[in-house]
Amino acid sequence: MAKRYHKNKAKQIAKNHMDNLEDQIDKQRFVDASLAQKYLEMIRRLSRKFKIPVSRTIKRQYCKQCHILLTPGLNARVRLRDGKRVLYCYSCKNFTRTPYSKKKEN
Ligand SMILES: [Zn+2]
Repeated sequence: MAKRYHKNKAKQIAKNHMDNLEDQIDKQRFVDASLAQKYLEMIRRLSRKFKIPVSRTIKRQYCKQCHILLTPGLNARVRLRDGKRVLYCYSCKNFTRTPYSKKKEN
């Protein structure tokens, strides 16, 4: 039982760490792209090790094929088409489509 508690605690720490890394990615992506990429890899590694799902915001910011951090205008293109957000990766030419909905302002 004690071991189990310990495991949950480690998971909690990992999750906090992932949140911090997410903030760091936002800060570093235009400053040092390779550092931001490193942070992304750390997030993915933690996610696999502790079975924590990668947050939605991060999930939509990297290429699922070549695992590169996508920054629109830098190494990716974003287009809105038929209610879907199409993210195009320049390095492997892969498309990712995610649906989006217009928020009603009333
Ligand atoms: Zn790619």
